[in-house]
Amino acid sequence: MAFTTPHRIGILGGTFDPIHFGHLAIAEAARDRLHLDRVILIPAGRPWLKSDQMVSAPEHRLAMARLAIENRLGLEMSPIEVDRPGPTYTVDTLAELREELGSGVELYLVLGMDSVRELHRWRDPERLFDLCTVVAVSRPDSVDVSSDEIERSFTEARGRTRTIRGPMLDISATDIRTRVADGQSISDCVPPPVERYIREHGLYLGGGL
Ligand code: ATP
Repeated sequence: MAFTTPHRIGILGGTFDPIHFGHLAIAEAARDRLHLDRVILIPAGRPWLKSDQMVSAPEHRLAMARLAIENRLGLEMSPIEVDRPGPTYTVDTLAELREELGSGVELYLVLGMDSVRELHRWRDPERLFDLCTVVAVSRPDSVDVSSDEIERSFTEARGRTRTIRGPMLDISATDIRTRVADGQSISDCVPPPVERYIREHGLYLGGGL
Protein backbone atom coordinates (compact mmCIF):
# COMPACT_ATOMS: atom_id res chain seq x y z
CA MET A 1 0.00 0.00 0.00
CA ALA A 2 1.38 3.42 -0.92
CA PHE A 3 1.37 6.13 1.72
CA THR A 4 1.86 9.71 0.71
CA THR A 5 2.91 12.33 3.25
CA PRO A 6 0.37 15.11 3.45
CA HIS A 7 1.43 18.47 2.11
CA ARG A 8 2.15 20.90 4.89
CA ILE A 9 1.14 24.40 3.95
CA GLY A 10 1.63 27.56 6.00
CA ILE A 11 -0.72 30.52 5.76
CA LEU A 12 0.38 34.01 6.76
CA GLY A 13 -2.42 36.55 6.59
CA GLY A 14 -1.97 40.23 7.22
CA THR A 15 -2.79 43.73 6.13
CA PHE A 16 0.73 43.96 4.68
CA ASP A 17 0.55 47.75 4.50
CA PRO A 18 3.37 47.40 3.63
CA ILE A 19 4.83 43.89 3.73
CA HIS A 20 8.20 43.96 5.55
CA PHE A 21 11.16 41.83 6.64
CA GLY A 22 9.32 40.89 9.87
CA HIS A 23 6.62 39.12 7.81
CA LEU A 24 9.14 37.41 5.54
CA ALA A 25 11.23 36.29 8.52
CA ILE A 26 8.33 34.65 10.36
CA ALA A 27 7.12 32.96 7.16
CA GLU A 28 10.60 31.54 6.57
CA ALA A 29 11.05 30.55 10.22
CA ALA A 30 7.76 28.63 10.11
CA ARG A 31 8.70 27.04 6.78
CA ASP A 32 12.04 25.84 8.13
CA ARG A 33 11.13 24.85 11.71
CA LEU A 34 7.90 23.05 10.81
CA HIS A 35 9.16 21.63 7.50
CA LEU A 36 6.39 23.26 5.51
CA ASP A 37 6.30 22.68 1.75
CA ARG A 38 5.31 26.30 1.21
CA VAL A 39 3.92 29.33 2.97
CA ILE A 40 1.17 31.34 1.29
CA LEU A 41 1.03 35.04 2.14
CA ILE A 42 -2.52 36.32 1.97
CA PRO A 43 -3.12 40.08 2.02
CA ALA A 44 -6.43 40.92 3.69
CA GLY A 45 -9.19 42.48 1.61
CA ARG A 46 -10.91 44.61 4.21
CA PRO A 47 -9.33 43.77 7.57
CA TRP A 48 -12.31 44.18 9.90
CA LEU A 49 -10.17 44.56 13.05
CA LYS A 50 -8.62 47.62 11.40
CA SER A 51 -11.92 49.03 10.10
CA ASP A 52 -11.34 52.32 11.94
CA GLN A 53 -8.03 52.77 10.12
CA MET A 54 -7.21 53.86 6.55
CA VAL A 55 -5.62 50.98 4.67
CA SER A 56 -3.90 51.24 1.26
CA ALA A 57 -5.71 49.88 -1.80
CA PRO A 58 -5.52 46.08 -2.11
CA GLU A 59 -3.79 46.45 -5.51
CA HIS A 60 -0.82 48.17 -3.84
CA ARG A 61 -0.62 45.66 -0.99
CA LEU A 62 -0.80 42.71 -3.41
CA ALA A 63 1.83 44.23 -5.70
CA MET A 64 4.22 44.81 -2.79
CA ALA A 65 3.71 41.26 -1.49
CA ARG A 66 4.41 39.90 -4.97
CA LEU A 67 7.65 41.90 -5.17
CA ALA A 68 8.71 40.88 -1.66
CA ILE A 69 8.53 37.13 -2.26
CA GLU A 70 10.50 37.16 -5.51
CA ASN A 71 13.33 34.61 -5.29
CA ARG A 72 12.31 33.44 -1.81
CA LEU A 73 12.07 29.69 -1.77
CA GLY A 74 8.70 28.27 -0.79
CA LEU A 75 6.95 31.62 -0.33
CA GLU A 76 3.83 32.30 -2.38
CA MET A 77 1.13 34.94 -2.45
CA SER A 78 -2.60 34.57 -2.97
CA PRO A 79 -5.25 37.23 -3.72
CA ILE A 80 -7.98 34.95 -2.31
CA GLU A 81 -9.09 37.44 0.39
CA VAL A 82 -8.91 40.51 -1.81
CA ASP A 83 -11.01 38.71 -4.43
CA ARG A 84 -13.72 37.82 -1.89
CA PRO A 85 -16.29 40.58 -1.36
CA GLY A 86 -17.08 41.80 2.16
CA PRO A 87 -14.97 41.85 5.31
CA THR A 88 -12.03 39.49 5.65
CA TYR A 89 -12.45 36.60 8.08
CA THR A 90 -9.54 34.16 8.34
CA VAL A 91 -11.88 31.28 9.15
CA ASP A 92 -13.58 31.72 5.73
CA THR A 93 -10.20 31.74 4.00
CA LEU A 94 -9.09 28.56 5.75
CA ALA A 95 -12.39 26.84 4.91
CA GLU A 96 -12.01 27.87 1.26
CA LEU A 97 -8.42 26.62 1.13
CA ARG A 98 -9.30 23.36 2.85
CA GLU A 99 -12.05 22.81 0.23
CA GLU A 100 -9.74 23.72 -2.65
CA LEU A 101 -6.68 21.77 -1.49
CA GLY A 102 -8.45 18.69 -0.17
CA SER A 103 -7.95 16.58 2.93
CA GLY A 104 -4.39 15.51 2.01
CA VAL A 105 -3.15 18.89 3.16
CA GLU A 106 -2.27 20.08 6.67
CA LEU A 107 -2.72 23.80 7.17
CA TYR A 108 -0.59 25.87 9.58
CA LEU A 109 -1.76 29.40 10.36
CA VAL A 110 1.24 31.57 11.23
CA LEU A 111 0.51 34.42 13.67
CA GLY A 112 2.65 36.97 15.49
CA MET A 113 2.10 36.97 19.27
CA ASP A 114 0.12 40.23 19.10
CA SER A 115 -2.37 38.50 16.79
CA VAL A 116 -2.50 35.44 19.06
CA ARG A 117 -3.59 37.72 21.90
CA GLU A 118 -6.47 38.96 19.74
CA LEU A 119 -7.68 35.49 18.71
CA HIS A 120 -10.69 35.58 21.06
CA ARG A 121 -11.98 38.60 19.08
CA TRP A 122 -11.78 36.76 15.75
CA ARG A 123 -14.76 35.18 14.07
CA ASP A 124 -15.29 31.57 15.17
CA PRO A 125 -11.85 30.87 16.69
CA GLU A 126 -12.85 27.34 17.79
CA ARG A 127 -13.54 26.40 14.16
CA LEU A 128 -10.18 27.87 13.23
CA PHE A 129 -8.50 25.12 15.28
CA ASP A 130 -10.59 22.50 13.45
CA LEU A 131 -9.25 23.77 10.17
CA CYS A 132 -5.59 24.32 11.00
CA THR A 133 -2.76 24.25 13.52
CA VAL A 134 -2.03 27.71 14.92
CA VAL A 135 1.65 28.64 14.91
CA ALA A 136 2.40 31.45 17.36
CA VAL A 137 5.64 33.33 16.61
CA SER A 138 7.28 35.63 19.16
CA ARG A 139 7.46 39.33 18.38
CA PRO A 140 9.43 42.11 20.10
CA ASP A 141 7.15 44.20 22.35
CA SER A 142 4.58 41.37 22.56
CA VAL A 143 4.61 39.04 25.55
CA ASP A 144 4.78 35.38 24.47
CA VAL A 145 1.66 33.23 24.84
CA SER A 146 2.41 29.56 25.50
CA SER A 147 0.70 26.61 23.81
CA ASP A 148 -0.74 25.74 27.24
CA GLU A 149 -2.34 29.17 27.58
CA ILE A 150 -3.85 28.95 24.10
CA GLU A 151 -5.16 25.46 24.84
CA ARG A 152 -6.74 26.65 28.08
CA SER A 153 -8.52 29.46 26.20
CA PHE A 154 -10.00 27.41 23.35
CA THR A 155 -11.54 23.96 23.69
CA GLU A 156 -10.55 22.88 20.18
CA ALA A 157 -6.94 24.04 20.50
CA ARG A 158 -5.62 20.89 22.23
CA GLY A 159 -2.72 19.53 20.16
CA ARG A 160 -3.37 22.18 17.54
CA THR A 161 -0.87 24.86 18.53
CA ARG A 162 2.85 25.32 18.05
CA THR A 163 5.10 28.13 19.22
CA ILE A 164 8.23 29.45 17.57
CA ARG A 165 10.72 31.67 19.38
CA GLY A 166 12.40 34.18 17.06
CA PRO A 167 13.41 35.59 14.60
CA MET A 168 12.46 38.69 16.63
CA LEU A 169 12.78 41.50 14.11
CA ASP A 170 11.64 44.78 15.64
CA ILE A 171 9.76 46.01 12.56
CA SER A 172 6.15 47.08 12.16
CA ALA A 173 4.17 48.44 9.23
CA THR A 174 3.01 51.34 11.42
CA ASP A 175 6.61 52.39 12.02
CA ILE A 176 7.40 52.09 8.30
CA ARG A 177 4.45 54.33 7.34
CA THR A 178 5.55 56.92 9.88
CA ARG A 179 9.13 56.80 8.67
CA VAL A 180 8.08 57.31 5.03
CA ALA A 181 5.87 60.24 6.02
CA ASP A 182 8.84 61.72 7.91
CA GLY A 183 11.16 61.27 4.92
CA GLN A 184 13.33 58.65 6.68
CA SER A 185 14.91 55.58 5.11
CA ILE A 186 13.10 52.23 5.30
CA SER A 187 15.79 50.20 3.54
CA ASP A 188 16.44 48.13 6.69
CA CYS A 189 12.73 47.19 6.89
CA VAL A 190 11.61 46.18 3.37
CA PRO A 191 13.24 44.56 0.32
CA PRO A 192 14.58 47.11 -2.24
CA PRO A 193 11.79 46.51 -4.85
CA VAL A 194 9.15 47.21 -2.17
CA GLU A 195 10.90 50.41 -1.13
CA ARG A 196 11.04 51.46 -4.79
CA TYR A 197 7.33 50.67 -5.21
CA ILE A 198 6.44 52.80 -2.18
CA ARG A 199 8.45 55.76 -3.53
CA GLU A 200 7.16 55.42 -7.10
CA HIS A 201 3.51 55.33 -6.00
CA GLY A 202 3.88 57.98 -3.33
CA LEU A 203 2.47 55.71 -0.62
CA TYR A 204 2.34 56.78 3.04
CA LEU A 205 3.19 60.42 2.40
CA GLY A 206 -0.02 61.65 4.00
CA GLY A 207 1.12 61.40 7.63
CA GLY A 208 1.44 57.67 8.29
CA LEU A 209 -2.08 56.48 7.27
P1 ATP B 1 0.61 47.32 11.68
O1 ATP B 1 1.81 47.98 12.33
O2 ATP B 1 -0.02 48.15 10.60
O3 ATP B 1 -0.40 46.81 12.70
P2 ATP B 1 2.07 44.83 11.29
O4 ATP B 1 3.50 45.21 11.10
O5 ATP B 1 1.67 44.27 12.62
O6 ATP B 1 1.12 46.04 10.87
P3 ATP B 1 0.33 42.99 9.86
O7 ATP B 1 0.17 42.95 8.38
O8 ATP B 1 -0.76 43.51 10.68
O9 ATP B 1 1.70 43.82 10.13
O10 ATP B 1 0.81 41.57 10.40
C1 ATP B 1 0.50 40.34 9.81
C2 ATP B 1 0.97 39.22 10.72
O11 ATP B 1 2.40 39.26 10.88
C3 ATP B 1 0.40 39.30 12.13
O12 ATP B 1 0.14 37.98 12.60
C4 ATP B 1 1.51 39.94 12.94
O13 ATP B 1 1.46 39.57 14.29
C5 ATP B 1 2.74 39.35 12.25
N1 ATP B 1 3.92 40.22 12.35
C6 ATP B 1 4.09 41.42 11.76
N2 ATP B 1 5.32 41.92 12.03
C7 ATP B 1 5.94 41.01 12.82
C8 ATP B 1 7.23 40.95 13.46
N3 ATP B 1 8.11 41.94 13.33
N4 ATP B 1 7.52 39.86 14.20
C9 ATP B 1 6.60 38.84 14.36
N5 ATP B 1 5.38 38.84 13.80
C10 ATP B 1 5.04 39.91 13.03
